[in-house]
Amino acid sequence: MRLADKVTLITGAGSGIGQSSAYLFASEGAYVIVNDIQPEKGEETVAAIRAAGGKAIFLQADVTDPASVARMVEQAIAQCGRIDVLFNNAGISGVGALHEVEPEQWERVMTVNIRGVYLPSKYVLPHMMAQGGGSIINMSSCIAEIGLARRASYAATKGAVLALTKSMQVDYAPYHIRVNALLPGTILTPFVEDYLRKSYTDQEAAVASLKSRQLSNDLGRPEDVAKAALFLASDESKFMMGSPLYIDGGVVFG
Ligand code: NAD
Repeated sequence: MRLADKVTLITGAGSGIGQSSAYLFASEGAYVIVNDIQPEKGEETVAAIRAAGGKAIFLQADVTDPASVARMVEQAIAQCGRIDVLFNNAGISGVGALHEVEPEQWERVMTVNIRGVYLPSKYVLPHMMAQGGGSIINMSSCIAEIGLARRASYAATKGAVLALTKSMQVDYAPYHIRVNALLPGTILTPFVEDYLRKSYTDQEAAVASLKSRQLSNDLGRPEDVAKAALFLASDESKFMMGSPLYIDGGVVFG
């Protein structure tokens, strides 16, 4: 069991990569605190973990709202006494070249994808510092490092998350807290289906074009990213600090 007795908090764990990570973490012995803004989705994740014999609770919070996040962390500590792993996974897509993006859309993507990493980290860090360590995993994207069409706002947020990860690592290394980033390529989740719906009329052609951009000539699955998250959560990655971890089917070389 690679996460035996570890308390893990995963934001946006009601769907896609977060949900898959919650399942995998629980199967490796973790107590999983499932967060999502959508209660029915979060409860579904918890029910599936419990049905498989794992340990999980659902805590609803909007990662963009300070009071909501502070309450979630308080409840998590009251219930579990500590948080060993924080996976800042919740995020939304942002479609459009820069001149097409309305100011409200821009703000929403910035708020969920950047403030949504800042706030859970802000409230969890004092507990990790007091308990003598922990692992924080921030969800970036391969788009932080390569140019992709009509993703201006989204790319800006994922670049910011990568920079934030390195900065956090320097500040919290003295407390034995590791902070690393995941950089997935295109992973088939509801998030990508939403992006495809908004961007293309011919979905099949769009999927074929996305596949051809990755050396793998295939799209990733949520489990592919969950396995990388498990590695960063566990002590197996103890020598990784402030690192970007690519799970992208080779898209950066495409
Ligand atoms: P998804 O849409 O399947 O799941 C995201 C979850 O986050 C949803 O359950 C949603 O309700 C929740 N959420 C959204 N806003 C929230 C908020 N304010 N507070 C709490 N929860 C909130 O998405 P996914 O594809 O699994 O993506 C997860 C993360 O991975 C995102 O940060 C995304 O940017 C990143 N990512 C995804 C891909 C991909 O191809 N799918 C690639 C690179 C990075």
